[in-house]
Amino acid sequence: MVFLTKTKWEKGYYLTEIRIKYMENQNEGFESICIKDIIGDNLHAHVPPIYATSTFAYKDLDKAMAYFKGESQGFMYSRLGNPSTQMVADKLAKLEAYGIEDENGKPLIAYGQLFASGMGAIAAATVGLLKSGDKIITQGNLYGTTNELFTSLLADYGIETVLFNLKDLEHLENTILNDETIQMIYIETPANPTLECFDLEAIAIIAQNMGIKTVVDNTFATPYLQQPLKYGIDLVVHSSTKYLNGHGTGISGVVIGKDSKLVNGKVKNIQKMFGACASPFEAYLLNNGLKTLTLRMDKHCENSEKLAYFLKNHEKVSFVNYLGDKEHADHLLAKDQMKKFGGMLSFEIIGGIEKAIQFLRNIKFCTVTASLGTPDTLVSHPASMSHANMDKNQRLDYGISDGLIRVSVGLENIEDIVADFEQALE
Ligand SMILES: *Cc1c(COP(=O)(O)O)cnc(C)c1O
Repeated sequence: MVFLTKTKWEKGYYLTEIRIKYMENQNEGFESICIKDIIGDNLHAHVPPIYATSTFAYKDLDKAMAYFKGESQGFMYSRLGNPSTQMVADKLAKLEAYGIEDENGKPLIAYGQLFASGMGAIAAATVGLLKSGDKIITQGNLYGTTNELFTSLLADYGIETVLFNLKDLEHLENTILNDETIQMIYIETPANPTLECFDLEAIAIIAQNMGIKTVVDNTFATPYLQQPLKYGIDLVVHSSTKYLNGHGTGISGVVIGKDSKLVNGKVKNIQKMFGACASPFEAYLLNNGLKTLTLRMDKHCENSEKLAYFLKNHEKVSFVNYLGDKEHADHLLAKDQMKKFGGMLSFEIIGGIEKAIQFLRNIKFCTVTASLGTPDTLVSHPASMSHANMDKNQRLDYGISDGLIRVSVGLENIEDIVADFEQALE
């Protein structure tokens, strides 16, 4: 834990000496990083206060002028940086880099920028690294709004998206080799809602050989279960709205990478110009949630395994998509690149749309909604909710059948979750 006085925050110490010390201190465990804060309050508040301020005032004019010229780092204006948001971004960067070594065998140092939402982070990571004429190559089963950003908005600005089967690695390499405008591979793994996984190590090697960038949406896994930086992925993005906040109390996003020029340069510039900065209050909620990340994730994983087992043996369920199930096509890959199998699953109810909707109407104890990563169990029906506007054949191609139900398994007593599913399936 690093302690500093308010005056030191004002002088920008946090952004220079203290921050470097914090990032370089690799002696603490993953859980400790989640829990311990940099404390910057002259009243010795135990938990960092919320810096609800738009600007920062200076007693030292020379220092202030150096900040504005970019010669020295310090807080100036909250769109450009705020202690409440930067502190959480640094913590998340440390978690994503935890236990990883750099090329020289030293502990990897990563950098993070906190955003107003996951979409703010994804938009900055793509727009910040690409220019008109460049192409993104990515999977078809992306998060809905990411797909919309890529295929409609970015296309209008001259950044095209090639939808591709990222499992076909040989074909991937050739496709990139034959089109020099492809400048980025964008990956979501595990992907929604079938939990399809992609091989991060193999894809990162292809991208490095081709000299192009890689971005991974690590929302479903969190850095506790999966660390894309370990495989040489350039940028990790999160909707920290989900498991990282973990309580469904606020919207935020983050971009993390080891190259300061990308994260604190190109990506942060988009944040500055688009105004996609996180609010100090949302950052405070996120920081609060992070403290119990590992406890929650362990329980999410434990409960989802039990629910998957129950569903798999139910006569009204035709199949279950759960990464811990040996029959899931990506079980071995998940076992290899993830610490545990996560808290998400989906399953197909026999009887199509009608039975699926009936099941949702019958749900009493759990909550019917589309988000994920909250303490309570959330149930949704992709075909009529998150993927309702997708072309039906395309939807079926991605394994999103009419009877498919997605579950974000919560932290309640598993008996209560199972009992609710049992009565709703009746
Ligand atoms: C929710 C989500 C997003 C978007 O994040 P917001 O915080 O809602 O902007 C992006 N990717 C995945 C995988 C998500 O689940």
